[in-house]
Amino acid sequence: MELVEESPYRFRIDPHGDMRVPGVVFASRSLLPDVTADKAIEQVANVATLPGIVEASYAMPDVHWGYGFPIGGVAATDVAADGVVSPGGVGFDISCGVRLLAADLDRAELPRVRERLMDGLDTAVPRGMARGAVWKIDDRAQLNEVLLGGSRYAVEQGHGVERDLTRCEDHGAVSDADPDQVSDRAVQRGQGQVGSLGSGNHFLEVQAVDHVYDDDAAEAFGLRPGQICVMVHSGSRGMGHQICTDHVRVMERVMPRYGIDVPDRQLACAPVFSPEGRAYLGAMAAAANYARANRQLLGEAARRVFERTVGRRLDLVYDVSHNLAKIESHRVDGADRQLCVHRKGATRALPPGHPDLPADLAGVGQPVLIPGSMGTPSYVLTGVAGAPAFASTCHGAGRAQSRTQAAKSVRGKDLRDQLEAQNISVRGASMRGLAEETPQAYKDVSAVVGSAEGGGLCRRVARLVPVGVVKG
Ligand code: 5GP
Ligand code: MN
Ligand code: MN
Repeated sequence: MELVEESPYRFRIDPHGDMRVPGVVFASRSLLPDVTADKAIEQVANVATLPGIVEASYAMPDVHWGYGFPIGGVAATDVAADGVVSPGGVGFDISCGVRLLAADLDRAELPRVRERLMDGLDTAVPRGMARGAVWKIDDRAQLNEVLLGGSRYAVEQGHGVERDLTRCEDHGAVSDADPDQVSDRAVQRGQGQVGSLGSGNHFLEVQAVDHVYDDDAAEAFGLRPGQICVMVHSGSRGMGHQICTDHVRVMERVMPRYGIDVPDRQLACAPVFSPEGRAYLGAMAAAANYARANRQLLGEAARRVFERTVGRRLDLVYDVSHNLAKIESHRVDGADRQLCVHRKGATRALPPGHPDLPADLAGVGQPVLIPGSMGTPSYVLTGVAGAPAFASTCHGAGRAQSRTQAAKSVRGKDLRDQLEAQNISVRGASMRGLAEETPQAYKDVSAVVGSAEGGGLCRRVARLVPVGVVKG
C-alpha cells in the first residue's frame, strides 16, 4: 500500500479494491506508522469501503491498531445515502473522554500540600476492577435517569454546579438515549461503577500549566501559567463495553440483509436509519450519558479533596469524549449534509463561532484535551476555522507498544521510583498496571500535537506537566 505525501503533514492512500473514498493520514513522516509492521494503515483503507462514507477515511497523528477501525480514526457517512453506523467505529469504551478542572492554586504553593492532596485523591478515587464507585446506584430506575440525563441528572442530584454543564460537551447529556436498547447484562455491569476510573490507561492526574501558547484562548478556558489542574480520563466502564459487544453481534447477523459486505468482520455495521442502527445509536447515547456522569462524579470527588485538604476550588475547563458517533451537519461538495461522524480515539474540535459552543468560548473555539502520559506533558488545544476531517483532531499520544511489550520493558517499582525522582507522585492500582503504562509505551505527544497543528486540524493553547498521578 502506498502513502502519497500531499503536504508535510498529510498523506493519501489512493482508492483501490473496494475503497469508495481515499484514506488520509495526518502525520509527520517520522510519526507515520510503518505500513509493513503496523495494521493501522490497512484499517484506514478498510474503513474507506463502508457504505455511505464521504470525503475520506481519516487518521489522526496518534493512529494505531484498534478493533476493526484504527484508534485515531475519523469516518463520516451520509445518512441520506444509506450511510452506516458501526460500533467498531466508536470502540468498546463508548464516550471515553477527558475532563479538565482548573484549581484556584498555584504551582509555587504545591510542594507544601502535594502529598496530602495525593493521599486524599488516592483514598477518594475508586479504581481497578470492581472496587466500588463514588455514587452508589443500585436500582435500574435511578440508573435509567443517569442513562437519560448524564451529567445533568448528576448535577440535579447535587453532584456538581451549573458550570459543569455549560462546560461539558452537549451541556452534559445527549438527548436521544434509549435505555430500552441497553441489555440487562450491560445494566448489571454498569450499576456499581458511576464514579470509578477503571483500569490501566485511565487516570486522574494533578498537573501544572507549564506553558501558554495563546493567552486569549487560555484566559477564556480559565487557564493561566503556573496553575494547578486536575485531568480525568475515564469512560463508560463495563456498561459501554457490554453495549458494544451486544450490538456488534446483532449487526454481524443482519449485514447480509442490507447487502453490506465488509473486508473485516470487526467493521460490522448497519444503515443509520435501520432498526439495528437506531438501536445501537440509542444505546450508545445512553452509554455516553453514563460516561459523562462518571467523569462528573470523579471530578466531584477530586473537588471535595481539594476543598478539604487545601480549601481551594476546582472549576471545569471542559469535558469532551474521544470515542463517539454523532449525527452532525457538515458541508460536503458544496452541500450541507447530515452525517454520522465516527470519532474513535479522536476528539471533536469545534472552531470559533460554532453554534454549539457556550457564549464565553464563542470567540476562541472548543477546548480539546490531549493527555500525553504520566511522565510527559499533556496539551490543551482548540478548534480552528475551515479545518478538515469534520472538525476533529487527535486524542492522545497514541500507543507505540502493546501492554505486554511495555510490561516487559520495565518493572513497575522501578518506573515508580523514576517518576518520583522526576517529582511526579504516583498512586498506582497495581505495579503491573503501572508498567503497562510506562511513558515509553506511547508516541511523542509533542510531535503528535505538532503534526495535528501542522495538518491544520487544531491550534495549541497550553501545555501541562504532571505532578501527581492516580492510575487506574
Ligand atoms: P486511550 O483513550 O486511547 O486509552 O488513551 C488516550 C491517551 O491517554 C493515550 O494515547 C495516552 O497518550 C494518554 N495517557 C495514558 N495514560 C496516561 C497517564 O497516566 N497520564 C496522562 N497524562 N496521559 C495518559
Ligand atoms: Mn477508555
Ligand atoms: Mn480514552
